[in-house]
Amino acid sequence: MSLRAVVVHGGAGNPRAGRIADEAPYHQGLREALAAAQQHPADALAAVEAAVRVLEDAPVFNAGRGSVLTSEGTVEMDAAVMCGSSLRAGAVAAVTTVRNPVSLARAVMEGSDHVLLVGVGAERLAAERGLERMDPQWFVTDAQRRRLAREDGDRRGTVGAVALDTEGRLAAATSTGGTRGQRPGRVGDSPLVGAGTYADSTCAVSATGDGEHIMSVVATHEVSALMRLGGLPVEEACERVLRGRLERLGADAGLIAVDRDGNVAMPFNTTVMHRGWQVAGAQPATVLGKT
Ligand code: ASP
Repeated sequence: MSLRAVVVHGGAGNPRAGRIADEAPYHQGLREALAAAQQHPADALAAVEAAVRVLEDAPVFNAGRGSVLTSEGTVEMDAAVMCGSSLRAGAVAAVTTVRNPVSLARAVMEGSDHVLLVGVGAERLAAERGLERMDPQWFVTDAQRRRLAREDGDRRGTVGAVALDTEGRLAAATSTGGTRGQRPGRVGDSPLVGAGTYADSTCAVSATGDGEHIMSVVATHEVSALMRLGGLPVEEACERVLRGRLERLGADAGLIAVDRDGNVAMPFNTTVMHRGWQVAGAQPATVLGKT
C-alpha cells in the first residue's frame, strides 16, 4: 500500500552558477523524504510530518539543522502543519532549540487550543511534550556561516510536503529557517495558515520563495479558492497564483500541491526548485532544475 500522491520540496532559488554544484545530497534528501512519507500510506498528516523531519535533519536544506542565519548569526525556525479533512492546523515561529520544528507544530495542533505559538512559549510546549531539543549552536553549520559572511549563495530555501492518503485525506507541512540575514524576530509565510501552508478537502499546498509576497497574496489559500470557487484544476490554479499575483509583485516563488484526486502540481519561477514526487503505481522521481 502507498500514498495516493506525495510531493516534497527543498526550496526554490537562484543559485549563482544557475545550478547546484553538488546535487547528490539534495536528491538523496528528497528520496529519503519520499520514503519516510510512504511509511504512512493511510495517514497524510503523519506522512507530511515524516517527510519534513527528514528534510529538516539534512543540512543541505534551509530548515532545522543547516537553516540560514539571521543578521546576528543565529538560527530561528518556523514550521506549520495542516490537516485538510479537519481544517486543523498547528504552527510555530522563531524557535531556536527544537530539532524538528514540524513535530512541534503538530504538537501545537494536537496538544494545545492554539494554532500558532512563538519563541519561549513554543519552546515550553516542546519541553512539556518531550520533543528532542538541541543547543542553538547545533543548528548553525559552517556552510551557512560562510554564506552569511560572504553574502553569497541563495538567501532562501525552505522545505515542505503535501500528501493524499489512501483514505482520501489531504495534508500539508512546511518548515524553514527563513531568509539569510533576516532581522531576529522576522517571521515569514511558512508558519502562516493560508500563506505558506494550507490544506482542506480540495487540495494541500506548500509554498517557498519571497515570504513577504507570499503572505500578501495569501498564496496557498488562493490556490484552494481558485479550485473551489473558480473550478480550476490544481495545475492551473497554482500557475495562476504564481504567474499572476506573485509575479506582479516581483516574487521569486514556487508551489507544490496535490488535489483530492491525486493530481499534482509544482510550478516555480526561479532557476531551481528541489522537488520530489510519487503517485500511486509509479516510481518516485526527484528533480532540481527545470525539466
Ligand atoms: N518563504 C520562506 C520565508 O520567507 C523562505 C523560502 O521559502 O525561501 O521565510
